[in-house]
Amino acid sequence: MLDGILKKSKKPILILAGFLLVAILLNYAVLELFEQKSFYRAAHSLVGIIMLMGFVYTFSSKDTSRFKILTLFLVALIPCYLGTVFSDLDIKFFGIGSHRNPVFHSGIVFFILLFVARRLKSFLPAAIISAFGLGLGSHLVWDLFDRADVRWIPGGTLDSLWLGINGLLCILLARTFLKSRFKKVES
Ligand SMILES: [Zn+2]
Repeated sequence: MLDGILKKSKKPILILAGFLLVAILLNYAVLELFEQKSFYRAAHSLVGIIMLMGFVYTFSSKDTSRFKILTLFLVALIPCYLGTVFSDLDIKFFGIGSHRNPVFHSGIVFFILLFVARRLKSFLPAAIISAFGLGLGSHLVWDLFDRADVRWIPGGTLDSLWLGINGLLCILLARTFLKSRFKKVES
């Protein structure tokens, strides 16, 4: 879908800028909804929304209606946001001294969720679960660029590996999980 729009348009940069503007406005609305003011939260949330746009785009094809793609995006928006928030709950539960502990700054909770939900065939819950995983993955990947220090893991390289591998696994598994349920809706 986006491919088509970009090819038809003479100014693809403007189209991408338009998507970025939509992401920024949506981010503002979501942050207002959850009464979040910090720049740190806004950055994680925005990265989540931009990744969600890319994620949803991978489900579009010429046989998929725009309505379905838009529905997927809207259903996924809040769970994705909650996924970006999840990793920081360690501050709330254990205090700032335990921030970035490896349980919260990994995909473990999402992997368990996927295992529990593996027999789930319906699209809607699968979209919600996948969106949570994507949000969590985006948080971990963004922390990787932030050179975040994960507790109990020695050395910067291992921290980066931990965040990168967990983040990518979250994103890939979220896509694989939703893709099979998405096809069932198509047929
Ligand atoms: Zn973090």
